Amino acid sequence: MFYAGCHLSSSGGFLQMGKDALSIDANTFQFFTRNPRGGQAKALDPDDIKAYTKLAEENRFGPIVAHSPYTLNPAAKDEKVLNFAYMVMEDDLMRMEQVPGNYYNFHPGSHVGQGVEAGIEKIAALLNHIMKKDQSTIILLETMSGKGTEIGSRFEELSAIIDKVRIKDKIGVLMDTCHVNDGGYDIVKDLNGVLKEFDKVIGLSRLKAVHINDSLNPFGAHKDRHAKLGEGHIGLEAITEFINHKAIRNLPCILETPQDSLEGYKKEIAILRKAYKEQL
Ligand code: FE
Ligand code: FE
Ligand code: ZN
Repeated sequence: MFYAGCHLSSSGGFLQMGKDALSIDANTFQFFTRNPRGGQAKALDPDDIKAYTKLAEENRFGPIVAHSPYTLNPAAKDEKVLNFAYMVMEDDLMRMEQVPGNYYNFHPGSHVGQGVEAGIEKIAALLNHIMKKDQSTIILLETMSGKGTEIGSRFEELSAIIDKVRIKDKIGVLMDTCHVNDGGYDIVKDLNGVLKEFDKVIGLSRLKAVHINDSLNPFGAHKDRHAKLGEGHIGLEAITEFINHKAIRNLPCILETPQDSLEGYKKEIAILRKAYKEQL
């Protein structure tokens, strides 16, 4: 099954996101668990979730991806900043259990001069604090571009975090095409090689979802600026190869391209659906 979707606004609730997704021919989507800058989250409405669940079942939606606020730093040096990440992520995980069986994706964080290893320790400690054995949500570490002191642009760093996490069956990875290309993994010229490397270092069974973005910057730039499909350095041909790859083709594919309306996403979902081969 091909699951294609995009980032949607969560301000109207789950049922609204489900309807928005249907209106653009999506069968999965991503949303921020709260204001992307971090504030208080609105209480979830059980009736809204019930209505959404029905719609998602009827339309055979794939798993959806909740994205933590991108301003959190789970590797922070400053205690206040770190505590804030604990508080928000623990609360988000609890809320996600009201929409069970989905994904919670986050940016591993920046070590801000402490060094990669110290950062990895902090991220793993946070995960070990907030994760529960019986949670139904799978937590995903996003592959990063390596901007500044960002952790997670090397597969080895993600693997080191996973190694330290105790509840291993609830942790996975989300691969962002713009980020990995920026991070120095050549998905344009050597997708097979990159996925082989991922398998060797992390294990492809950990790969649970992908972000489909083109990149404004060339391979290895460590910049993280997304482009519309076909308008960046990755290009449509490589994206077509990516979504059809046997390691990717059944995972939720989420667009995070710069769009100012659903219409733009609708066009790109149509592009992805046209590019997807039902049989290899
Ligand atoms: Fe992200
Ligand atoms: Fe992303
Ligand atoms: Zn990005």
